[in-house]
Amino acid sequence: MPDQFVASTMNIMLRWARRIAIFLLLGAIVNVAFAWGCALPRRRHWSNGAPLPSDEQTRWWRANCPEGVVDTPDEVHVTHDMGYEAVAMSAQSQAVAAGSDVIRVSAGWPLISMTGEHWSVMQCTGDHVFPIGQVAVVPRGLWVFRRPTGHGYDQIYHIPLEPIWGGFLLNAIGYGLAIWLCVAIPAFFTRWHRTRWHRCIACGYPRGTSPVCTECGEPLPSPSDRARSR
Ligand SMILES: [Zn+2]
Repeated sequence: MPDQFVASTMNIMLRWARRIAIFLLLGAIVNVAFAWGCALPRRRHWSNGAPLPSDEQTRWWRANCPEGVVDTPDEVHVTHDMGYEAVAMSAQSQAVAAGSDVIRVSAGWPLISMTGEHWSVMQCTGDHVFPIGQVAVVPRGLWVFRRPTGHGYDQIYHIPLEPIWGGFLLNAIGYGLAIWLCVAIPAFFTRWHRTRWHRCIACGYPRGTSPVCTECGEPLPSPSDRARSR
């Protein structure tokens, strides 16, 4: 008897673990779809002028820039929107031989959950800002693709691929829970309705006096079982 109890408890726990894993996975898929959906249609609207990067932005640049890049950016533009943030920084206007710029795109809703950045290193004319050629491109978790518009320029899309784990998990749990509710609420009402009208819970066939359903063979709880479970 205790063995049976342990086995059935294990079974129930396994079933719940599997259920939770499936809904978390579905939640994660919806989360990625939302994040990419937030990132796709955006046109960045850069602020005018050339604002200086903050100390924090400069620290981020220094911690992440590829080798050989100037260690102080001198321009930053930020686009902030629902479920979307893009930060573009550059170090081109310094009197250096190699300028550089980066775009970092983060997206996700309700929490920002995916990010990625793309560095390009430019050869400059030495004493001025004008880039004369791109010497290196360093993508990190950012998929960049271009779509010709037919107007002589390309629409550029930035799709972030790297998860930001805190936001990613919370979003996935939220979406997973929402999907689970969409499945569980109708199932609950079907079950309630079939019990109420003395039907087999598994297939909805009216029950007679047999202890198993005559349609699908499911065991049918006796009225006293049902009274106890109520
Ligand atoms: Zn049945």
